[in-house]
Amino acid sequence: MSVLVVGSIGIDSIKTQLEERRDVLGGAASYASIAASFFAPVKLVGIVGSDFPQEYIELFKSRGINLDGVQVADGKTFRWSGEYEWDMNQRKTLNIALNVFENFTPKLPDAYQRAPIILLGNISPILQYHVLDQVEDPRFVIADTMDLWITTTRPELLDLLKRVDLLVLNDSEARQLTAETSLIKAGRAILQLGPRFVAIKKGEHGCLLLSQDQFFSCGAFPLEDIHDPTGAGDSFAGGFAGYLASLEKESFEFADLKKAVVYGSLMASFCVESFSLDRIKALSREEIEERYELFRLMSHFEVIE
Ligand code: AMP
Repeated sequence: MSVLVVGSIGIDSIKTQLEERRDVLGGAASYASIAASFFAPVKLVGIVGSDFPQEYIELFKSRGINLDGVQVADGKTFRWSGEYEWDMNQRKTLNIALNVFENFTPKLPDAYQRAPIILLGNISPILQYHVLDQVEDPRFVIADTMDLWITTTRPELLDLLKRVDLLVLNDSEARQLTAETSLIKAGRAILQLGPRFVAIKKGEHGCLLLSQDQFFSCGAFPLEDIHDPTGAGDSFAGGFAGYLASLEKESFEFADLKKAVVYGSLMASFCVESFSLDRIKALSREEIEERYELFRLMSHFEVIE
């Protein structure tokens, strides 16, 4: 069962308080597709410019990712730069250049239109909607979003939410979208907007998963060294989508989604251990399963009589 991933593919420059990297592979769909590729076949939709380095194309190919839906346009690739504070949950965008994204109209190849799991990674909800319009009867649709779209294209985002099974967003975005301070109330308010499920990410504090009548709280895998949090959310979404696809089921229960949250959290933990996709791209499925087992032991506690 394959996962269709759409989102930004770009070149990032990243500064933390201790380190800096310029011109590295970034973009929501880059992280999400590579994370998902450890669990299921991936079909990528996006756009890059003629300056996009061939080595990154080779990286996607080496992970078996189908690139038929990636357009190569005349012009420059999307670029983003950001800087993290000492508290790495806080970052500011230093510069963003949409470049070829400005005139992007996603057109899905025929073989993409029946993909069962759809991951609408972080791009404008107008483009996310456009992709969704081209897929036939998907089994599960996941959408990610960010503060920019909540502010600038709120009506379009609200339209999209009516067609989505799961919305993934971080804590500050959930509060911004719903004008609630409590994340539980924010989650419930989001469920009223259309999605059957919502996953609210809390950075190094883990993630909440809500449905109308069920709730799951998952910690983040504790790490001693975090080098670059960029793409953690996208790796979470990719790991989540890939794991669901690997189940090969007609429909998914809350228990499936709980496990998908755990795999998503693990992929995010690998992502932040180095800059760009350096750690994730070199992973093996065995390392993921080893960390899963460690995470399970750490999170387990006996019922106290
Ligand atoms: P995350 O850390 O999960 O929020 O995702 C970071 C990635 O999102 C970076 O690699 C950026 O290239 C990409 N990004 C930043 N701003 C935008 C935007 N406005 N639209 C699409 N992608 C973006």
